Amino acid sequence: MDELRSKLFYEQKNGYDLIDTAQRLEAENYAKAYMDYLNRSRTEREAVDNAIAMAQEQGFVPYVPGMPLEPGMKVYKNNRGKALILAVIGKRPLSEGAVIAGAHVDSPRLDLKQVTMYESDELCYFKTHYYGGIKKYQWVTIPLELHGVVALKSGELVQVCIGREADEPKFVITDLLPHLAQDQMKKTMAEGITGEGLNILIGSAPYADEGKDRVKLAVMSLLHDSYGITEEDFLSAELTAVPAFDVCEIGLDRSLIGGYGHDDRVCAFAELKAILELQIPEKTAVCILADKEETGSDGVSGMQSAAFDCFMEDLCQTQGVALRRCYENSFCLSADVSAAYDPLYPEVSDKRNGSKINYGMAVEKYTGARGKSGTSDASAEVVAYLRRLFAENGVVWQMGSLGKVDQGGGGTIAKFMAKRNIDTIDAGVPVLSMHAPFEVVSKFDCYMTYKGVLAAYQDK
Ligand code: MN
Ligand code: MN
Repeated sequence: MDELRSKLFYEQKNGYDLIDTAQRLEAENYAKAYMDYLNRSRTEREAVDNAIAMAQEQGFVPYVPGMPLEPGMKVYKNNRGKALILAVIGKRPLSEGAVIAGAHVDSPRLDLKQVTMYESDELCYFKTHYYGGIKKYQWVTIPLELHGVVALKSGELVQVCIGREADEPKFVITDLLPHLAQDQMKKTMAEGITGEGLNILIGSAPYADEGKDRVKLAVMSLLHDSYGITEEDFLSAELTAVPAFDVCEIGLDRSLIGGYGHDDRVCAFAELKAILELQIPEKTAVCILADKEETGSDGVSGMQSAAFDCFMEDLCQTQGVALRRCYENSFCLSADVSAAYDPLYPEVSDKRNGSKINYGMAVEKYTGARGKSGTSDASAEVVAYLRRLFAENGVVWQMGSLGKVDQGGGGTIAKFMAKRNIDTIDAGVPVLSMHAPFEVVSKFDCYMTYKGVLAAYQDK
């Protein structure tokens, strides 16, 4: 019976039971490199800058339309500093398709409004508008740091980063003390902290003179001294407050990684690491670090933008290939995180179909909500292809799904790739506390996701 059972039943194993010491060590080293990247990549702009620096070290050069493309050539296209496409030209022509992996490097955060600074009762604040899906109560009483750019009228771009270094000041949104919160505590968690209430405390010491807004004047003077900016310059700024937590190991066994922005820089790094290792792939390998996924992939740096098509069309043109031919023969791994099954909240999941920590790269055939609405739903054939690919390459993987039926839902860039007539499937790292200021992933799953993307890139 045991024999028959193991032959006929689908049984999942914990990833740690499937790898040897050498692989564990490799996963450990991989995790270290990822943690370093995540620590330095707090915004999509920083994630792109750091990716370009890593790519250049491996011989990637900026793509120039019309440049000759030999197999093994490594090029990249920087989309306005906020999204990035890298490609390694394959042996086979693009008419046979490309292997694409697409992750996003934007994460939920608090963007400063354009008229952001104000003083109230001798304390100074930044007003914010949150970006992406957040539980607002999670963003108060945690240290925040400020990142982004101020674009001056002159065309000059001023880089801002305050709070990343240990000796730099941080920022915070205050909350009521429990003693006086009895009315607040009666509200729902969605209502207890409001969007308009997410104002960041940035100063308290007044300017040594008389008049109004003395604290604001003092803070603005500091900003002017450091960055040469005035209040009007905020109108053309993209400044964002992100959690000021360092990326760190979690657990006595150090098997997990805690940090801000795993979704989806954890998959972006996996793709990046994989494409940087390629020599001459069979098919052209393409790595996308997209922006704007958390707000619906709209915008010029999101995956609904034609920026990707322009880049691919340029490559195709050089080889005398029609873009539509390339697309219909291409394959895309939409590398995005999945919601890990959380034993503390079992009620929202279907345990059989949810992804689990340490069970490997999580493949989601579909996402969406309410009867699979808004998902590209990969075909059985595409899933079968991954089963074969991962089996042949020792990639530990599992199926995943976004919660139990009718519990909620969500989406990724997958449907926008499928819309281009590209076979696409979601696969990535399971995450605990997704979209929280401090998310958790497992080293094992991170490593397996990298191996999964690498296997796709290297497939014959
Ligand atoms: Mn995501
Ligand atoms: Mn997300």
